[in-house]
Amino acid sequence: MQIKKLYDFKCQVCQITIQTKLGHYAEGAHIKPLGKPHNGDDNPDNLICLCPNHHIMFDKGVFSITDKLKLIGALSGELIINSNHKLNFSNLQYHRQIHGFK
Ligand SMILES: [Zn+2]
Repeated sequence: MQIKKLYDFKCQVCQITIQTKLGHYAEGAHIKPLGKPHNGDDNPDNLICLCPNHHIMFDKGVFSITDKLKLIGALSGELIINSNHKLNFSNLQYHRQIHGFK
């Protein structure tokens, strides 16, 4: 997947990549989830590259991301972002909303 390649399979939160026998591993995390009832999409602006731990934390709403790409909730700091990667702010807002961040 393109987003994972863009980040060289490094997590946008912690920069960790998992080296496997078959190469580096990371996961593409949807900001607005796929499927009902969320109906998010597969566009790059709805995807971030995360390690498995941060992926599940993001999906469970342990942390979220502001429009200024600050990490909120259980994490602090900033999301690492490539200048060629634009995020969909309405999807970030959606993620904050469904997980109870204002
Ligand atoms: Zn991570």
